[in-house]
Amino acid sequence: MEAGREFDSPMYHEAVAQFDRAATLMGLDDNVTGRLRSPQRSMIVSFPFRHDDYTEVETIFGYRVQHLTTMGPTKGGIRFAPDVDLGEISALAMLMTWKCSIVGVPFGGAKGGVRINPLELSRAELQRVTRRYTMEIINVIGPEQDIPAPDLGTNEQVMAWMMDTYSQHVGHSVPAVVTGKPPALGGSIARREATGRGLMFLLPRAASEVDLDPVGVSVAIHGFGNVGRYAAIAGQQMEAKIVAVSDISGGIYNHDGLDVEAVAKWVDENRFLEGYPDADSIDGDSIFTLDVDILVPAAIQGVINKDNASDITAKVIIEGANNPTTLEADDILRERDVFIVPDILANAGGVTVSYFEWVQDVQKYFWTENEIVARLREIMLTGYEEVHGIAVREKVDMRTAALMKGIQRVADAKLVRGIFP
Ligand code: GLU
Repeated sequence: MEAGREFDSPMYHEAVAQFDRAATLMGLDDNVTGRLRSPQRSMIVSFPFRHDDYTEVETIFGYRVQHLTTMGPTKGGIRFAPDVDLGEISALAMLMTWKCSIVGVPFGGAKGGVRINPLELSRAELQRVTRRYTMEIINVIGPEQDIPAPDLGTNEQVMAWMMDTYSQHVGHSVPAVVTGKPPALGGSIARREATGRGLMFLLPRAASEVDLDPVGVSVAIHGFGNVGRYAAIAGQQMEAKIVAVSDISGGIYNHDGLDVEAVAKWVDENRFLEGYPDADSIDGDSIFTLDVDILVPAAIQGVINKDNASDITAKVIIEGANNPTTLEADDILRERDVFIVPDILANAGGVTVSYFEWVQDVQKYFWTENEIVARLREIMLTGYEEVHGIAVREKVDMRTAALMKGIQRVADAKLVRGIFP
């Protein structure tokens, strides 16, 4: 059965191809396979956006896609990026379904996006775009329905504006409508660090698969945003040696290990990594082929591809970004026995702590940071062991095993719920 042509895009094809591969190996019921290939609900909106100078009005496109409503409310981030389209958002919504399922949080997958470059916007412009987009999708979101969170190009402040817009609309405060909010509004402490921290909890296990000692292991991280930055900090705390990081301004490298806190301070003060004094500057793309033990792509999709996969020397890749590795690159790396901890497992710490945030908002009862971090750690390590168990048992790679685990729980739920009417 063909997946919907409406969603046609390279990224959507990749997500469906990955799903099909796992579904075939699992011998998944054809009827269930057909249903899971296409998102259940997709919303495309266009709206006017007035620039600060007041004379220009631009038409902006936005999306919110809910892949699956079987498991509970839907959940997933909102990205602001210049090339976002329905196919990309649909692919990412599907990945969110498997991700939530792997770590056992009671959500289906969703994703949203606005096709705009946030780096070109003033704060006032960013706020107007956020509020108007929220208004356009307001009927499909809600604490019991669909709960947005930050993703590429959005942050705690954007979530605060979304929460405020929704709350103004319904006439009372609804913190649980989004996660990744500032703690002052009911956001979870430790949410900001959650994705990077969760990912690094898996580093010792992943390193041991290829007989690397996690202490002193060399790590290169592509991206120094919400994922890369906190992965670097967590990695350094665990005594891994973070030798290189990069952002859109380029990369920095220090053979003896970067002082990650100093790098973070530099970025706070200067916005980008460029010009950081205590390291060599390197070309941003060369980060993938550095002579390191572990590579962490933590920015955008498609960066590990057929052009660089054969030149990667890292023995382990831990995927912080969503879909950073293309299908072709995945095949090349599998052939070469590079051990990959796939995105839907490795970066699930973000949505896990989002789940904690939602639970705390709904119950109006807040946990301590120690409780949050301990529960995150337990969930990440359990997820890893379960996926690894499937990989060993079924003799498949970790990505396929993660998909099998994610898909199975959803398929079981779909079958017992049956078909309406
Ligand atoms: N945007 C993050 C992701 O891709 C987090 C989603 C969430 O917390 O809902 O996993």
